[in-house]
Amino acid sequence: MALHYRKTRDGQWVAYGPAAEVVVGEVEVTKRDCSTKRETIERVGRPFISDGAEMAYGYLRAPACDNCAQPGAKHHRLDSNGVRGQVCDRCRFEPSYTLSFG
Ligand SMILES: [Zn+2]
Repeated sequence: MALHYRKTRDGQWVAYGPAAEVVVGEVEVTKRDCSTKRETIERVGRPFISDGAEMAYGYLRAPACDNCAQPGAKHHRLDSNGVRGQVCDRCRFEPSYTLSFG
């Protein structure tokens, strides 16, 4: 069985799967369209039983900001050249002509 994305009650994306496979470090998570994405699990939640199997949530490390390279990117923006990227809370309010994702 593979890990899948789940959204927690407070809107955070986590990796969800059998507790034995939800481990801290690099994992592959399967998306709804069956493609996979490499993610880093930073913290594993307390395992719980679902349909007789022991399952767990793996809390994912936020990707690095495309503008300042600090971790915590979660806002989609376009930079001064129209390149799509993800930025952190701090860079979110920068005007787009100051952003550069290249
Ligand atoms: Zn930033």
